Amino acid sequence: MNVPLLDLRAQYSTIKREAEAAILHIAESQQLILGEEVQDLENALAEYCGSRFAIGVSSGTDALLMALTALNIGPGDEVVMPTYSFFATAGTVARLGAKPVLTDIDPITWNITAEHIERAITPQVKAIIPVHLYGQTADMRPVLEVAAHHNIPVIEDAAQSIGAQYHDGRIAGSMGLMGCYSFYPTKNLGAFGDAGLVVTNDEELAVRLRQMREHGAEQRYYHKFVGGNFRIDAIQAAVLNVKLPHLETWHEARRRNADLYAQAFMDCGLSEGKGIAKFDEKNPVLLPLASWRSSGVKNYHIYNQYIVRVQQRDELRDFLASRGIGSQVYYPAPFHRQECFAYLDAKDADFPMANEAAATTLALPIYPELSPEQIKYVAQTFAEFICPQ
Ligand SMILES: *Cc1c(COP(=O)(O)O)cnc(C)c1O
Repeated sequence: MNVPLLDLRAQYSTIKREAEAAILHIAESQQLILGEEVQDLENALAEYCGSRFAIGVSSGTDALLMALTALNIGPGDEVVMPTYSFFATAGTVARLGAKPVLTDIDPITWNITAEHIERAITPQVKAIIPVHLYGQTADMRPVLEVAAHHNIPVIEDAAQSIGAQYHDGRIAGSMGLMGCYSFYPTKNLGAFGDAGLVVTNDEELAVRLRQMREHGAEQRYYHKFVGGNFRIDAIQAAVLNVKLPHLETWHEARRRNADLYAQAFMDCGLSEGKGIAKFDEKNPVLLPLASWRSSGVKNYHIYNQYIVRVQQRDELRDFLASRGIGSQVYYPAPFHRQECFAYLDAKDADFPMANEAAATTLALPIYPELSPEQIKYVAQTFAEFICPQ
């Protein structure tokens, strides 16, 4: 059996007719950049994300860059973030000449926590970027409390988490001053190329961001400040407008697949269930948790990635590949181990959980169109590797 990590063509085949009609419409109109499709998308996404304003941009990376720029972050400033995320979280900060201040992560959600942030605050900190990693929100209430106490704005990196909900029902990206999303094709809502979004409830910021994506122009050829070309293509907006009505169904299918995995790993004797944080003979596979440890209240995890933890991860990965199963390691090197951040002089021992995650996490196929048989096959192949007869 073949189980690719992701099969974008499976999803495409379910929306082919609509998507082709939308693309053809753009081709015929020749309204190729911004325009009506983009406005429709922005309106729909503002509502979906629970924010007043949504600004479509060129990528998730540019969304972060613009949010930071809108706060005038630059040389001499510091920005607090988890060391374990996709590169863009730190890369955008460094590109602006500011210093990424790295923290370790929570052992169960792999997200930053309020305690980590509190310890990292200095007078130079001008923003905090919690990342809602893999489709699950960070524990935002205490994060926002710490930020408010120190009067520091919060930019949410919700690139992997559009539609994820915190346990109080608030939506990933809508809780801080600005929220940044990516429509990179592998995200739950993926364009047919690069695209991204910034949301905010602050009208002045929304105006500034709209101008920033067109070189800081207030009206064409009259520039209030220096921005850039951060525009979204109409074709991407048209595709996203076709996909958005399906998004909730796709999230639900991923959540169902996550439950099927949990059951299959239990059936194979590789796990006693969700919420186990330490390896032992009965738990050689640690499952991702979709509820908060203390409160027991469920958050809404959209499983952009389904991440398990295993020892001998790299050998297992090769074994899975030999049996036709795709998997991926996100992220083998946290920011504090990146060559380009050697100048930060971060101490490796300060990030035990991130290092543990880098060594033991493995992303398994979770895309909506997977079959229950494929999921069972993945769990059985794990069992073959872990408990050979
Ligand atoms: C994908 C991603 C980004 C960047 O988005 P692009 O659209 O690829 O530029 C930023 N942060 C995180 C956490 C991501 O996963």
